[in-house]
Amino acid sequence: MTDLAPLVWVVEDEAPVRKFLRAALSSHGFRLLEAETAKEALQLLTTHKIDLVILDLGLPDGDGLSLAREVRGWSKVPIIVVSARGQEDDKVSALDAGADDYVTKPFGVRELLARIRVALRHARGPGEAQSDVIELGPIRIDRERREVKVDDRDVHLTPTEYRMLVLLAENAGKVLTHRQILKEVWGPAYTGHTHYVRVHMAELRKKIEEDPARPQWLVTEPAVGYRMRDRAS
Ligand code: CA
Repeated sequence: MTDLAPLVWVVEDEAPVRKFLRAALSSHGFRLLEAETAKEALQLLTTHKIDLVILDLGLPDGDGLSLAREVRGWSKVPIIVVSARGQEDDKVSALDAGADDYVTKPFGVRELLARIRVALRHARGPGEAQSDVIELGPIRIDRERREVKVDDRDVHLTPTEYRMLVLLAENAGKVLTHRQILKEVWGPAYTGHTHYVRVHMAELRKKIEEDPARPQWLVTEPAVGYRMRDRAS
């Protein structure tokens, strides 16, 4: 199976968007399966070994959100949700329910491919994230020594800032919702305290970013959460 191109499952009811995805993905070496409805989608999923799902949140026969929940109930396959403007709440719910990432319509090929690459890499296993040292541009995190350096300069973080940075760095390239960050760093009882994340993120950026007002690494995903870039851009 490993020599086969990754099989991407596109669940989308709008023909022009399917056409765009078909052209973009097949020209970049992916194989495709397409479904227009949630019902059709579930049938396909039980009969094929799928590597990644691109899931529209607005489907004619039920919402993509419940489909995402259902799939996540028995499969770890990476899910990238496609949302329209105004579906911010659904998008966050889908991410909290276990979707890996999202793109908002209209989106470009480059953005989509970057999301797919990150999702497939994380699905394949922790890889570099499992070694003690994580390096992202000028940022170097040594998890064994619990040391953080930026451009070879020691950075002193509070325990909370450190946990938040490590969490984001281990998931570099992926969006994390406020709820996911709160749950991992503070614990499940704190998932409503979005301002905790905001306050500590501001402090973390002052220590990590060259210009905290224009962060290059710890970027905000409006109305969703934060994403640590996995490369300079
Ligand atoms: Ca739709």
